[in-house]
Amino acid sequence: MVKKVLKFGGTSVGTVERIQHIAHIIKKEQLSGNKIIAVVSAMAGKTNELINLSNEISDEFNKRELDVLLSSGEQITCALLSGALLKLKIKAQSWMNWQIPILTEGEHANARIVNMNTEKINQFLDDKGVAIIPGFQGISNKGDITTIGRGGSDATAVAVAKIFNADTCEIYTDVDGVFSTDPNKIPVAKKIEKISFDEMLELSSLGAKVMQSSAVQTAMMYDIPLEVRSTFTERKGTKIFSQENIDYTKSVTGVAYSKDDAKITVIGVEDKPGVAANIFEPLSKAQINVDMVIQNISSDQKTTDITFTVKRDDILKTKKILKNESKINYKQIIQNEKVAKVSIVGAGMVSTPGVTYRMFRALSDEGINILAISTSEIKLSVIIDEDKTLAAIKKLHTIFDLD
Ligand code: ADP
Ligand code: ASP
Ligand code: MG
Repeated sequence: MVKKVLKFGGTSVGTVERIQHIAHIIKKEQLSGNKIIAVVSAMAGKTNELINLSNEISDEFNKRELDVLLSSGEQITCALLSGALLKLKIKAQSWMNWQIPILTEGEHANARIVNMNTEKINQFLDDKGVAIIPGFQGISNKGDITTIGRGGSDATAVAVAKIFNADTCEIYTDVDGVFSTDPNKIPVAKKIEKISFDEMLELSSLGAKVMQSSAVQTAMMYDIPLEVRSTFTERKGTKIFSQENIDYTKSVTGVAYSKDDAKITVIGVEDKPGVAANIFEPLSKAQINVDMVIQNISSDQKTTDITFTVKRDDILKTKKILKNESKINYKQIIQNEKVAKVSIVGAGMVSTPGVTYRMFRALSDEGINILAISTSEIKLSVIIDEDKTLAAIKKLHTIFDLD
C-alpha cells in the first residue's frame, strides 16, 4: 500500500465538472489500494477575485483579515471535492487548516508551514478514507489564519508529503509537466522527462510558475521527489529529484522569464569606498531584495552611476529610502519598470564553455539590448526591454537546441 499526496492546482479544480473529474482520478487511485491525501487550490481566478474585493474596501486592507478572506478559496474547493467523492461512494472528508491544525510561523501572507498533526488524518486513511486538505494556508501559534504566499498550495503539498511521510507527491496541473519554457507562450517547448531540484529551483525562482519556488526548496532540503503531471491527459509527467540520477546531454535545460523586476539607476553618486554600502544597507534593512547590480566606470574619477534591479512591487519603497537616507548623495534617480528578466538554466552549463557568449550573441542578433546581467553556476539572467521578451525566449530556445 502506497501513501500518495496528490495536489490539484486552480485550473484543475476550476469548474464543478473539473472537480468531478479529479474525484474520478482520486477514486481510481484509491481503488488501486493507495492511501490518498488530496491537497487543493482555490478554483482558478478565485484568489484574485477575493484580492480585488479587499481592494474595493481598502488598498491597505488589514493583513490578518486578508488571510481570513483568501484562505476561504481553498475551503470551497475542499468541500466540493469531498462532496463529489462522497457522491461516488468513496469515503472522504475535508479538514480545515485549524482542524488539523497546520501550524505556521512568520508574517501574514508570507508564513511558512512548520508542523501538522497527523494522528486523526492517518487514522482516517487507515480506515480507507480520502483526506482533503486546503493548500496555501495554516494557523499561527496565536490561532490566527495565515497564508503562505501565492502559488503556495505546492508548498503545502510538499510539507504534507514530508510530515505524513508519503511515498509520492504528485502535482497535478494544466500542462503535461515541466517544459523547456512556458508551453503556453512557446508552443515548440518540450516536456522535460526528469530535472534536478537545483535546476527546478532556479527555473521557478526565475519565473516558471509551474512549481512554486519555496515548494521546490523544501523538497530539495528533505529529498522529497516530485512529479508534475497533467490533470487532463494521462501522459507521463516530469520527475523532479536529486541530481545524481540525471544525465546532462544539453548545456541548457530551460528558459524562464519574469516581469516582476524593475531597474533603478542612481546617477551621479560619489566614486569612493562605502558609497555602494550606504545605498544597499538601508534597502536590506527594509527587506528589499536587490538582484543585479552594475556600477558604471567613472569618467571623471569623481562621480559614477549605480544601476540595480528590485522587485517591481518594491520600487516606491526603494525610491523613498534613497531620497530620505542622508548618507546617500546623488544627482538623479531614473527608473525603468518596462523590463523583463530572461534566464537560461542548466546544470550542463558548468561543463560547457561558451554558453555566456552564445547567449549574448543570440540576443544581439535579434537587436536586443542587455540592460543588466547576473550569473550563477547553473543560470544566466539578463534584464531586457519588456516588449522584447517573447523574441528573446524564442531565440534562446532555438539556439540552445530546445525546440
Ligand atoms: P496550478 O494552478 O496547477 O498551480 P500554475 O498556473 O501555477 O498551475 O502553473 C502552471 C502554468 O505554469 C502553466 O499553465 C504554464 O503556463 C506555466 N509555466 C511557466 N513556465 C513553465 C514551464 N517551464 N513548464 C511548464 N509550465 C510552465
Ligand atoms: N490559491 C492560491 C493562489 O492563487 C494558492 C495556489 O493556487 O497555489 O495563489
Ligand atoms: Mg501553481
